[in-house]
Amino acid sequence: MISVKHPLLTKDHERFMELVDELSKRFIEPVADKIDRENYYPREVIRELGENGILAPVMPREYGGYGMDILGTALSIEVISRYSGSMGILTEVQGFLVTDAFYTYGNKQMREELVPKLARGELIGSFALSEPCCGSDAAAIETRAERRGGEWVINGKKMWITQGLYADVYIVFTRTGPKEARHKAVTAFLLRRNKCIEASPIYVMGIRGTGTSELTFNDCVVGDDDIVGKPNEGFRIAMEALNLGRIAVVSVTLGLAEAALTEALGWVKNRRAFNQQLSDLEWVQFQLADIMAYMETMRSIVYDAASRFDRKYEDYYAFASIAKLTSVLIGMDIIRRAVQLTGAYGVWSNSKLNRIYRDAKLMEIGEGTNEVQRMVIYKWLSKYLG
Ligand SMILES: Cc1cc2nc3c(=O)[nH]c(=O)nc-3n(C[C@H](O)[C@H](O)[C@H](O)COP(=O)(O)OP(=O)(O)OC[C@H]3O[C@@H](n4cnc5c(N)ncnc54)[C@H](O)[C@@H]3O)c2cc1C
Repeated sequence: MISVKHPLLTKDHERFMELVDELSKRFIEPVADKIDRENYYPREVIRELGENGILAPVMPREYGGYGMDILGTALSIEVISRYSGSMGILTEVQGFLVTDAFYTYGNKQMREELVPKLARGELIGSFALSEPCCGSDAAAIETRAERRGGEWVINGKKMWITQGLYADVYIVFTRTGPKEARHKAVTAFLLRRNKCIEASPIYVMGIRGTGTSELTFNDCVVGDDDIVGKPNEGFRIAMEALNLGRIAVVSVTLGLAEAALTEALGWVKNRRAFNQQLSDLEWVQFQLADIMAYMETMRSIVYDAASRFDRKYEDYYAFASIAKLTSVLIGMDIIRRAVQLTGAYGVWSNSKLNRIYRDAKLMEIGEGTNEVQRMVIYKWLSKYLG
């Protein structure tokens, strides 16, 4: 892997990346192919990463994390994704979407009981927002939580839920008022694994082995103490979690693009055509130069967006969307070029590039599609248009 220093990274960040790389080589590399090929859910790897504080590095050490900032957490996801995009997404969902949400918005019991176990990988968590009716239009969700006596009863369906097959706890976003109230009547609940939840597998083309599932809730009973944040505040919690998720998804894309470049370099240095190395052809050299230029552009956008969260810059959310939109477009282009440079090898089912290509496509969809990012960016821009 090409090692590039970046002015936003401290010595602590660099040392942390080395640690994550060492752990990824030890625990992830040996099973990366199996995760993809066999749709294998790497439960024991999650546990190992958790024990070493890199499942949710953003959590303080006493809560099972590594006490890293958002940028450090993004770097960790980037490094992990060089080995496996699926593992990058699993750490994102477990660390940012679930553990951090319980830490930031949960009550004392959620913080004290759940957060350390989630951060250490003793418990698995899922973030259940999308539904068969609606993904981009999350304010239209239909899963309901109804007040009956002193309790809440949840009924409905969720779609595409990462780790949903294996989760011990779910953060479930529900409608707690009329559909017309849209985002103003959404409440988040902690729901523990229970017989009232049916989870069935969904098979996807990339990011395999992540336990993607459809969930059906049949009269699941929860109490007021299970509300995450405040009643009807769920939509804001979901959007804040997804802002962090966007930083994570672009970090996955960066890690995948770096791995694609490494694969392409290895190929063109060794492959001969028309009596010369591919790497001696000017056209190939220009392709590699383009890839490198795009990659460093992408790196700066991603690190900049993560740093804005750490520095609590105004409008950080808009920069998360700018980073998400530009990075997935640039990343897909890098990976497409890398596949092209390797000819049939890149599309062979045994090649790592084939897996990278399939994984990267999903980054244009998860945590808000490209079109949703454009909506966020334009809404932000329109403030300045008068
Ligand atoms: C592998 C995988 C894992 C996932 N994990 C999770 C998870 O853990 N938790 C979770 O809650 N969700 C998860 N998702 C769901 C994901 O967040 C949604 O797929 C995503 O938000 C898009 O929603 P949708 O698929 O329903 O597409 P739709 O919203 O139906 O959109 C379809 C197309 O229409 C476009 N579109 C929609 N509205 C507009 C508009 N107003 N203007 C222009 N274009 C528009 C979209 O951009 C898209 O191209 C996952 C998805 C995948 C593929």
